[in-house]
Amino acid sequence: MLRIRELKLPVDHTPEDLTGKVLRTLRIRPEELLRLEIRRRSLDARGGELRYVYLVDVEVKREQAALKQSRGKAERAVRTQYRFPEPGTERMERRPVIIGAGPAGLFCGLMLARAGYAPILLERGEPAEKRARTVERFWLTGALDPSSNVQFGEGGAGTFSDGKLNTMVKDPVGRNRKVLELFVEAGAPEEILYENKPHLGTDELIGIVTNMRRKIERLGGEVRFGCQAEDLQVQDGRIRGVTVRDKDTGESGSVEADQVVLAIGHSARDTFDMLKARGVPMQAKAFAVGVRMEHPQEMINQSQYGPGYPASLPAAAYKVTRQTGAGRGVYSFCMCPGGYVVNASSEPGHLAVNGMSYRARAGKNANSAMIVTVTPADYGGTDVLAGVEFQRRLERAAFRIGEGQVPVQLFGDFCSGVPSAALGDVEPCIKGAYRLANVRELFPAELSAALEEGIRGCASLIRGFDRPDAVLSGVESRTSSPVRILRDGHLESAVGGLYPCGEGAGYAGGITSAAIDGLKIAEAIAKKYMPCYD
Ligand SMILES: Cc1cc2nc3c(=O)[nH]c(=O)nc-3n(C[C@H](O)[C@H](O)[C@H](O)COP(=O)(O)OP(=O)(O)OC[C@H]3O[C@@H](n4cnc5c(N)ncnc54)[C@H](O)[C@@H]3O)c2cc1C
Repeated sequence: MLRIRELKLPVDHTPEDLTGKVLRTLRIRPEELLRLEIRRRSLDARGGELRYVYLVDVEVKREQAALKQSRGKAERAVRTQYRFPEPGTERMERRPVIIGAGPAGLFCGLMLARAGYAPILLERGEPAEKRARTVERFWLTGALDPSSNVQFGEGGAGTFSDGKLNTMVKDPVGRNRKVLELFVEAGAPEEILYENKPHLGTDELIGIVTNMRRKIERLGGEVRFGCQAEDLQVQDGRIRGVTVRDKDTGESGSVEADQVVLAIGHSARDTFDMLKARGVPMQAKAFAVGVRMEHPQEMINQSQYGPGYPASLPAAAYKVTRQTGAGRGVYSFCMCPGGYVVNASSEPGHLAVNGMSYRARAGKNANSAMIVTVTPADYGGTDVLAGVEFQRRLERAAFRIGEGQVPVQLFGDFCSGVPSAALGDVEPCIKGAYRLANVRELFPAELSAALEEGIRGCASLIRGFDRPDAVLSGVESRTSSPVRILRDGHLESAVGGLYPCGEGAGYAGGITSAAIDGLKIAEAIAKKYMPCYD
């Protein structure tokens, strides 16, 4: 197999153009090309000329000759094949339990189920389809279900999202690709395997996570919904089971297990309290807070693609960052092209926002979180969960100034520190009711000053980024976990048999990196144990 990099083609090219370019690069005839596989495709807007850039793997007749004829433009393709470990030698007497069916828990469960471990997944929320109705009802009526919402339920926090799958994690053993392949097996479009910045969109994600769950069940696993882990049973420093509460009956019960995966996500605050009370070692971790900011998508397209860009291009994305004079980093996060701001609350009397898009990204606004990193120095207190309390304080304030609705403010008014009285040309695209307010008052003065300075600074990167009628919504508080649940080199907590996993445990940030961490935990369990139960 040969690999050719940096094949550049105009945005309106056809698949035949790509084939033609390959044939010319290798100086071969069409019948000599046996197979062409796109491994990477990215849109390059640098230098004012828009082009797609390809990396392809090809199978050809007379490979050695083609390699020579390419005059260094081709190379032998080297691929990393992901391998799941063979079962270990220690006996596993009882089925492993996974708390949480977000990306970390689902992918961990799927890998263990494929290897014959028949895992039991406990999920406090609802199955994806039912959850989607509960979330739509919340956005329409404001009636929040604290156990099934944008944060909790099948598929986890990422289900109502833009479903961006890119990650900064550089995984040497091919877990990243494996995660994308498992998404495709569950119904995701093939393009995610080679798109530089793949995304799924909420409309695709609901079906995909449902298919994954059904596969786990077909392979002997089990997913229990409306089942909240409310305590851990620990004996002689080792996990022996989980106490669970059934959402419908309110009754508590017990699930015995010697291996328990904690894939609870960054919003499971009651579970963090329980872990602290149980003495599970944790430490405070930096995270970021801020606002969600909306601009017209057309303005972003013009900025990223230039005037007169082809209509065939997707809604443009951006990533901006600025250092303030005081040395604070202000940056964009979880940017949603053609998307919506969502009321992403999970606790009554608290209001948090986030962003989502549908696969088509066809909304009229672009939005992203504009956030600033906070540390214990910002919110005081030495308690390991002080960060959670800080998030709660901000969210209570947001709920108060919005009177239960999403508080919004124009950037110009934010800079003046006055409540907005009317909208400008940018009409908010928000899932959930919203209300004009003074979002600036949510934050300690130092943080709102940093946000203002940072956003103004980003206008040198994207013209009009600081336009006075850009719309800010508050509060973006769930950007990552405020704690890390400690684990050792075998990925186990000091409580033997307990495996902290994913974003909530502080080892991931995003759908794909959480899924990768799920694979790591499944591998750690498989490497050590062999299933000895029917
Ligand atoms: C609105 C929104 C949009 C996002 N957009 C993107 C995006 O486009 N791309 C991206 O990469 N990331 C995105 N993220 C972040 C991404 O969703 C998370 O990083 C990822 O879901 C973390 O996966 P996880 O499995 O570790 O935790 P989660 O997804 O949070 O899943 C944890 C699960 O555990 C369950 N749980 C918690 N406590 C208990 C308990 N005690 N008992 C039983 N079950 C429990 C929860 O109900 C939840 O389903 C977004 C997040 C949100 C909220």
